[in-house]
Amino acid sequence: MKRRTFLVGLAAAPLLARAAQPVDLKDIKRMQSDWKTFLAPGTAVPSPTEALKLSKEEWRKRLPPQAYGVLREENTERAGTSPLNNEKRPGVFVCAGCGLPLFTSEMKFESGTGWPSFFTAIPGAFEMKKDFYLIYPRTEYHCARCGGHHGHLFDDGPPPTNQRWCNNGVALRFIPKG
Ligand SMILES: [Zn+2]
Repeated sequence: MKRRTFLVGLAAAPLLARAAQPVDLKDIKRMQSDWKTFLAPGTAVPSPTEALKLSKEEWRKRLPPQAYGVLREENTERAGTSPLNNEKRPGVFVCAGCGLPLFTSEMKFESGTGWPSFFTAIPGAFEMKKDFYLIYPRTEYHCARCGGHHGHLFDDGPPPTNQRWCNNGVALRFIPKG
């Protein structure tokens, strides 16, 4: 039994290493279409079309203060404060507001910024708008289901997408696959 676990572990390691470094846009397409394979068995998740609309007061009751500040008032958490920076297990990152799946663990990369960062996202998870808080325009993105603010999209990420989805950790909840 022990030996079997060891062998399975060995077999899985190269696969994981390869998955973490997509070489072309076909890899990205595959990651986007295979995202459900990262869900823990039996996990029920909502879809972007099941809109969740709550009043400010309802959100305030539902969310811890820091998550409320980010998701509903577009605050930014302090860099390096999220435990999800170091989350490396296989699984799915969902919206802390409404549970919508947003990213899988294989879409994550270490950006060195102190915020959880991803080079692509699950299709349909987000909507965008431009904001001008820092004088130059930035692309703000928010959850397609509940409208909660998550972060900003930059174009200095790793190839082949060159995208860096810079996400507040407090706006995410991680569901490990195992
Ligand atoms: Zn949401």
